[in-house]
Amino acid sequence: MLQNVLLAREIYASEEHKMMQEMIQDFIKNEIIDNIAAWEKKGMVSREIWLRAGTLGLLCMDMPEQYGGSGLDFSFNALFIEELAKEGINGPGFSLHSDIVAPYLLKYGTEAQKEKYLPIMATGKMITAIAMTEPSCGSDLKAIQTKAVDKGDHYLVNGQKTFITNGYLCDMSIVAVKTNVGTEKEGISLLLIESSSNGFEKGPPFNKIGMKAQDTCELFFDNVKVPKENLLGEEGVGFGIMMTELARERLTVALNSIGGAQGAIEKTIAYTSTRTAFKQPIAKFQNTQFKLAEAASQLQLHQAFLDRCTLLLSKHLLTTESASIAKYSATEMHSNVVDECLQLFGGYGYMWDFPIARMYADNRVARIYAGTNEIMKVLIARGLFNQLFRK
Ligand SMILES: Cc1cc2nc3c(=O)[nH]c(=O)nc-3n(C[C@H](O)[C@H](O)[C@H](O)COP(=O)(O)OP(=O)(O)OC[C@H]3O[C@@H](n4cnc5c(N)ncnc54)[C@H](O)[C@@H]3O)c2cc1C
Repeated sequence: MLQNVLLAREIYASEEHKMMQEMIQDFIKNEIIDNIAAWEKKGMVSREIWLRAGTLGLLCMDMPEQYGGSGLDFSFNALFIEELAKEGINGPGFSLHSDIVAPYLLKYGTEAQKEKYLPIMATGKMITAIAMTEPSCGSDLKAIQTKAVDKGDHYLVNGQKTFITNGYLCDMSIVAVKTNVGTEKEGISLLLIESSSNGFEKGPPFNKIGMKAQDTCELFFDNVKVPKENLLGEEGVGFGIMMTELARERLTVALNSIGGAQGAIEKTIAYTSTRTAFKQPIAKFQNTQFKLAEAASQLQLHQAFLDRCTLLLSKHLLTTESASIAKYSATEMHSNVVDECLQLFGGYGYMWDFPIARMYADNRVARIYAGTNEIMKVLIARGLFNQLFRK
């Protein structure tokens, strides 16, 4: 029904996209929806769902076929993100694995690293994470304290990470560490650390206000020996890599928001069309119609901008500023839309069994993670005052 007011989206118009969309919707309906409550209770999804996603070819879709991917462009990953978000599914951290970790490996990994990790990641047998944030710093990434000391053929890693998506289930994590501490070569480096390494411990999944099926947790490193060949990119260039790759991460969060807003609007249209008050459907009140008209307008404007960003990312042309605008604006829009939609559910909107309640709680973090929206504004402003910052 929402399709009547939304423009057709050219980026998803091909036959391949339509077939993929149907397959994703079947996957969600038949293999995900009924498991959500159990996953939420456990604080994590099952490993089986990762294997199923791998078998269906839904992981690492835009990785080259030689590394186990499907060689598709990023618009297919974007479609998967939006379809999951429409149903409010935030438990499996597929996107972080496929859209963030895999591209780091493809772009900065050695041939041996790509061959070792990418194919097994595409099957879902290996689940991955990326660990930057520490208990004492998130926005200020240069302040991390996790240290890697050069011991000849390996690094010795000590430190702690927090709020790590896929943290509990992960088999391998890209970990941001400080190298050459106290020397003029001090800098941030990225290491690929397998969770089977001695001294690598995981905390239990956090008890969060939303995304309850997502295994977000702490990671601890106590004298973990990491072979030198697990350095991703060069020593000391980790900060630059993270800043470059965060544009892609921010776009994925924005895409989740437009999928989430669409799902919330669709569910609210359905609910208000059947729920009655004062002998008429709630949808007949002008307030309901106006709220949903405003939401649909905001959604469509953001879809148009994000389609453009998706295209730019596929061509490696998405700038930090545009990715920041997309993340900041789409997540604020999503929050507003879900809040207004929940209101139209009345008391039922506050009940966890109603997907709109989960959407409301899950959505809150989008304004915080992948760089807070305040940091997005810092980055946008830096672009505006380019000359000033250069001086
Ligand atoms: C569910 C969840 C999943 C996450 N997943 C991951 C993950 O997989 N990997 C990972 O590494 N991290 C992850 N994070 C961490 C997330 O990226 C950080 O929480 C986020 O970057 C903010 O850092 P912080 O929590 O340390 O907040 P702080 O940096 O302490 O910020 C606190 C407040 O100060 C504001 N602030 C800070 N600096 C400025 C400034 N310069 N100007 C104006 N305001 C400022 C912030 O905007 C915020 O409002 C996750 C977090 C959550 C909650």
